[in-house]
Amino acid sequence: MEASRSKILETPPGPGRAGTKRRRARAARLRWDRVRFALKLGIARTSGWRLAVQLGFSLVSVVLGIQFGRYVEAARTTTSGPLPVRPPGVEGYLPISGLMGALDWIYQGTLNTIHPAATILFLVFVGLSLALRKSFCGWICPVGFLSEWLGRLGVGLFGRNFRIWKWADVALRSLKYLLLAFFVWAIFSMTPAALNAFIQSPYNKVTDVKMLLFFVEIGSVGLIVIGILMLLSVLVQGFWCRYLCPYGALMGLFSWMSPVQVHRNADACTDCGICDRVCPARLPVSRKRSIGSVECIGCTDCVSSCPVPKALHFGTPRRKLAPGRIALAVAVLFVAATLLARVTGHWESAITDPEMRYHITHLDSPAYGHPGR
Ligand code: SF4
Ligand code: SF4
Repeated sequence: MEASRSKILETPPGPGRAGTKRRRARAARLRWDRVRFALKLGIARTSGWRLAVQLGFSLVSVVLGIQFGRYVEAARTTTSGPLPVRPPGVEGYLPISGLMGALDWIYQGTLNTIHPAATILFLVFVGLSLALRKSFCGWICPVGFLSEWLGRLGVGLFGRNFRIWKWADVALRSLKYLLLAFFVWAIFSMTPAALNAFIQSPYNKVTDVKMLLFFVEIGSVGLIVIGILMLLSVLVQGFWCRYLCPYGALMGLFSWMSPVQVHRNADACTDCGICDRVCPARLPVSRKRSIGSVECIGCTDCVSSCPVPKALHFGTPRRKLAPGRIALAVAVLFVAATLLARVTGHWESAITDPEMRYHITHLDSPAYGHPGR
């Protein structure tokens, strides 16, 4: 066992710097594995199904962003006539509004009509986390997808991603939970009336517009911050997701209740350690019987990369969930939930075109500031 582990961890023997260079070049080579239907980067394999779902959601996000941009631009520059269709799907980028809307739904008994899609999407992502671990992060989130590719770029440039000292890693990982605790405390400490007043406030009505304008008219400070985060994601795999994303932290807490996990068959396992090395969440897969960590994003990269058939599987202890089935489950749940929301009138915002024109032309007035300030 120990011999096989060291064989892989130390491959290949090479004289000094030349050997290191060869090793890094090999690690950085991106190839398509037809047999396993997976993208291969060094020893890491990512299922083609996962890539397809990630790419699909990222493309949909870009299309929604462009469509929403046309809507906002028309609202700013015209005074009458119908506006281009406002895509409710952009509300997926309003997770706090989604969480507030869900709590308000419980308090009031009806779903708010300002950003109903934000709440529906929030609940879909919670449902996915309950069913398939943090699959929102590993299969859907475009930021997670970008972050993964920045990490792969790092492997391409340096032959590997860098790791932060263990003590700093633990301290930094707590940041996303602290951010989450702050948001949860702020939302749950509001009275039902105050929460509903916030949802109906001018600020909340234009929060999606403000977010779009932040990126469209981004200043030098914003660019520098995003540039630093991207650079850190090239150097340290999944920097944003691992240390700073409170939404991922929340999904992780729900995923704790999920019945599916990565399971390892200790009898079949050769203890090679590949699963540990490819895990984006840096979990010690080879040392566990199953992975119940809230950090597991359900990516199945460990399963796809394991060289031993039947040593690892994702699912319940007895039932295996192949990546193709996960992709299908994610797509079916997503499409079914959004269609149901559409036909039951829980999807489109009730903000009319004239009202939005008014809001957009008054964005700079104090009435559109954060109600708590
Ligand atoms: S589970 Fe697979 S990849 Fe992980 S140590 Fe065992 S054989 Fe290697
Ligand atoms: S344990 Fe496996 S499924 Fe979970 S994050 Fe790591 S590689 Fe992905």
